[in-house]
Amino acid sequence: MNYIFLLLLVISSLRAFTMEVPESSVVNGRTAIILFDKEKDLKYEKIVVGKESYKIFKHPSNAKKMYALLPQSYYEKPTTKKVEVVYQKNSKEERKVIFFQIKDGKYAKERIQVQKSKVNPTSKKVKDRTAKEYAQAMKIYGGVTSKNYVTSKYLAPMNSKITSDFGKARIYNDALNGYHSGTDFRAKVGTPIIASNDGKIVLAKDRFYSGNSIIIDHGQGIYTCYYHLSAFKVKEGDMVKKGELIGWSGATGRITGPHLHFSARVGGVQVDPLQLMALLNKNLY
Ligand SMILES: [Zn+2]
Repeated sequence: MNYIFLLLLVISSLRAFTMEVPESSVVNGRTAIILFDKEKDLKYEKIVVGKESYKIFKHPSNAKKMYALLPQSYYEKPTTKKVEVVYQKNSKEERKVIFFQIKDGKYAKERIQVQKSKVNPTSKKVKDRTAKEYAQAMKIYGGVTSKNYVTSKYLAPMNSKITSDFGKARIYNDALNGYHSGTDFRAKVGTPIIASNDGKIVLAKDRFYSGNSIIIDHGQGIYTCYYHLSAFKVKEGDMVKKGELIGWSGATGRITGPHLHFSARVGGVQVDPLQLMALLNKNLY
């Protein structure tokens, strides 16, 4: 084989498609995005990172593009990850490899005092209840539909001061107990809470830790959650529009005072909700 032929082969395989990686590094607890140009005779299949695989979806506002999200768990350690884009060219499966840097979010720590019974519940009844609630939530978050309910930018669920950011390591009554899994907004009991975008209400019920809770499915594996509400305006199965009133803030569940806890999941992974919304707003809508 002569070198020129080999060179052409390399160029043609590199030029199989164009992809854009706005940020080639991401911190634990945050989400990265990859954008792809649609090409003739080429079908994007999925992205593979170790044992995980991620779907590639149609870009919601640009018919010439596709996109994929790579949500990073809070518990990811700094490393370089091999990311494989799997696609079919002329009915033959091929892979393109890129590398992603996972960085340390350097999240702060905070101490919290709550009612003893809400830290580590010991009664069997409560344990059974929280286990059931956890299983139900994980089943919901595992659902990744190709359908996307969203057509425009995400909104914050309310306008008020953020009292606690996503990712702070939490020490409940002096025992380290996970991390803050969402963003807290200051909210007096009874403050209106809105849907941050279009979607389907997939959960609206009282839970032990999160109190009166709402989860909205926005499609394509993206969920937003609204916790500790005093009352519901919607019920499971309802379709909601961005900005629509879904309930009122409160002080239900495991709390130190009234506030709204707002969180998000992507492909089952809990991520920083504000960073996720900013990322989607900038790249997709
Ligand atoms: Zn919170």
